[in-house]
Amino acid sequence: MDNADDGRFETRAIHAGQDPDEETGALMTPIYANSTYEQDAPGRDRGYEYSRTGNPTRSDLEANLAALEGGEFGRAFSSGMGSINTVLNLLSAGDHVVTGDDVYGGTHRIFTQVYEEYDLEFSFVDTTDPAAVREAMRPETELLWVETPTNPLMRVVDVAAMADIAHENDALCAVDNTFATPYLQRPLEHGADVVSHSLTKYLGGHSDVVGGALITDDAELDERIGFYQNSVGATPSPFDCFLVLRGTKTLPVRMDRHCENARHLAAWLQGQPCVDRVYYPGLESHPSHDLAARQMDDFGGMLSVELDATLEEASTVVSETEVFTLAESLGGVESLIEQPAAMTHAAIPPEEREEIGLSDGLIRISVGIEHADDLENDLRQAFAAAGLV
Ligand SMILES: *Cc1c(COP(=O)(O)O)cnc(C)c1O
Repeated sequence: MDNADDGRFETRAIHAGQDPDEETGALMTPIYANSTYEQDAPGRDRGYEYSRTGNPTRSDLEANLAALEGGEFGRAFSSGMGSINTVLNLLSAGDHVVTGDDVYGGTHRIFTQVYEEYDLEFSFVDTTDPAAVREAMRPETELLWVETPTNPLMRVVDVAAMADIAHENDALCAVDNTFATPYLQRPLEHGADVVSHSLTKYLGGHSDVVGGALITDDAELDERIGFYQNSVGATPSPFDCFLVLRGTKTLPVRMDRHCENARHLAAWLQGQPCVDRVYYPGLESHPSHDLAARQMDDFGGMLSVELDATLEEASTVVSETEVFTLAESLGGVESLIEQPAAMTHAAIPPEEREEIGLSDGLIRISVGIEHADDLENDLRQAFAAAGLV
């Protein structure tokens, strides 16, 4: 389909970068499981010379992901951390980065435990407050790294405002779009320079692959990203690229159900006596509901719940569910439940956790695409097992 890149999202998800194989007509991109390629003459290849540098299965995935984000250029990595690392590779010793105070735990770790050693400096601020971000910018700030919705409190960051602030300071604005996915939010449309993904989550969608991606509209930036992709070598295997391509085809239908189920659970949870607060941008009570409604096409499948419970009681809830699996990660078809203070965010020191409102009774849910009634009933019985009702 030649016009796949111009079709609507659902059409691009299935067709962009997915032309049938010229030689055999195979509909699906084959897994090109080879490291090297025949050259027609020394230095004259047919577009591929070595699979770290380029691989046809990866190229199709990269084209597909770029089309979904509405960007010109996509690059795939062996993990979301591989893509984040690549953005940091663009910086030099002495540069300064402004970022959110509740970014993904692994992002916080690579910033503070890896790149501070390389003489990059990081300021963690409340990115829902543009004035605080503007104030944190310095002449040597080269990157504003934003995640939205944030994890696990689902705070929504104004991407257009962040891009403006970054550009006023000649800095790059990078947005981690893993939680929203391009189906719900396309940061390049709001002025971001580069979008980062953990393909491990919704884009893969089946909890069976780890991957990452960077998408941009800027040819020069893409070339630099490509240089580090090849030089550092955190590239995905062709099999992993195949799995993610399989996932992106159903992204729209999966996301519709994730959103519908999350909306149902958020409304139900809000009425439960043992629940102090539900963090879901789709709720009108959510502080960034209006911004989320403007910036996103729907509100996503992630929500967090502050239980009126001790660390132990909350641990019991997440251990007693039967449909929800106790696990880190998110974005698969199956529902997952976890306790950030003991799991995903345990690397953040307790004082800092408290400061950013990440309490011991907080549980985070990746709402899957099972029947909503089964999910509701499962939480009800887990609350009872923990003595909360
Ligand atoms: C999972 C995740 C990452 C890291 O991706 P990996 O694929 O696990 O390396 C980065 N950002 C966000 C928001 C994530 O959820």
